[in-house]
Amino acid sequence: MGRLSEHFDEREFLCRCGCGGGSGKIHPNLVMGLEMLRDLVKLPIVLACAYRCPAHNAAVGGVPNSYHVQGMAADIHVAGLTPQELAGQAARVPLFFQGGIGIYPQRGFVHVDVGHKRRWMG
Ligand SMILES: [Zn+2]
Ligand SMILES: [Zn+2]
Repeated sequence: MGRLSEHFDEREFLCRCGCGGGSGKIHPNLVMGLEMLRDLVKLPIVLACAYRCPAHNAAVGGVPNSYHVQGMAADIHVAGLTPQELAGQAARVPLFFQGGIGIYPQRGFVHVDVGHKRRWMG
């Protein structure tokens, strides 16, 4: 466990259920994409959720093969940016432009992943 990139530590990506799962399972492209996004917005990116173990994923209603379970997704927010603004910046990162970007205005976060290309509003 430790630092994955200049601005992100593996600890931030681990499962929030308390199981501590996710170590060694975070896709390098997810970290690279978040690092590029960090450079664009020039503000700290808070990871509300990244890796989820299968049990936690099921508990929060995630689809069984969610990219969160595969270490390829993160739900993020940035103080000072609306989810719409943050999603717009995420779309400027090629790794996320080619992947998934979902906006959750009510819950105040943006889902990004390095899976296949999708766009949605939660
Ligand atoms: Zn867990
Ligand atoms: Zn998500």
